[in-house]
Amino acid sequence: MTATALRYAVFGNPIAHSRSPFIHQMFAAQEGVAITYDKILSHNDHFTADVHQFFAQGGLGANVTVPFKELVLTLATQISERATAAGAANTLHRLPDGKLLADNTDGIGLITDLKRLQVALRNSRILVLGAGGAARGILPALLSEQPASLTIANRSHDKAQQLAQHFDVAALPFDTLPAGGFDLIINATAAGLSDQALPLNANIFSQCQLAYDAFYAAQPTAFMHQAEQGGAAQTADGLGMLVEQAAAAYQLWRNFTPQTAPVLTALRNAIKL
Ligand code: NDP
Repeated sequence: MTATALRYAVFGNPIAHSRSPFIHQMFAAQEGVAITYDKILSHNDHFTADVHQFFAQGGLGANVTVPFKELVLTLATQISERATAAGAANTLHRLPDGKLLADNTDGIGLITDLKRLQVALRNSRILVLGAGGAARGILPALLSEQPASLTIANRSHDKAQQLAQHFDVAALPFDTLPAGGFDLIINATAAGLSDQALPLNANIFSQCQLAYDAFYAAQPTAFMHQAEQGGAAQTADGLGMLVEQAAAAYQLWRNFTPQTAPVLTALRNAIKL
């Protein structure tokens, strides 16, 4: 008799570039189980039907990426506290009674990676650049670390203002960010996708202990270069966050805690190829 496959997947559009199968297959190898983990290209018009079909056919869990992180909340039967706080989810988990739980592991993924990089969060002055899905996902987690201040800045300032109002934090336009005003600066914009630096004064990085780009690439990103030139003490890209958010999803699905360090090393080598 053939064992039933343990089926997982990631939904997105585009999705071809996704590294999630690589990561989850390494986690499964650590656990000593065989899983399938597919990339599913979906579309707003049939996303709900695609997800229901996947779970009706035995799917156990799924990741959800751009542009479905908000839409997915409409089809879940339960929404975790952190997905509710973020207003977005990146993980679906089929509960034993067949119901679908939507969760958001982006925030915990970022925090775990920031702790790996040994950055102090409590009482720190944090700047988050961007006001899209990634920013929404990470803001509740950052706030729960009790920073001294949290400021949002975004290309479209009205969006930063809306988000700042929702989370009861400050919003400033890019060109009014104070010199030396931040210990931790997180780039959660999509500017990296087009290899663009942000229109920021270099002096905002002068007291920055860590400039963290949620985007990642084979080489240091444009934002990392910009931050280094402005005097940031340390820079990092978001590959560690990617692995950690995946680990939190895997833990939810399988109640198994993967070791992330070897997966991050392997993935770093793989993206250089
Ligand atoms: P969204 O499309 O939801 O949001 C995009 C944000 O980027 C908006 O705030 C937008 O500003 C801003 N933006 C886009 N282009 C530019 C530009 N050229 N200059 C300045 N601002 C720009 O995307 P997400 O929030 O989902 O993703 C943002 C980034 O985070 C992506 O690079 C993604 O790869 C990364 N990410 C990484 C994760 C990880 O695990 N490492 C997890 C999730 C996301 P405006 O409002 O003005 O349009």
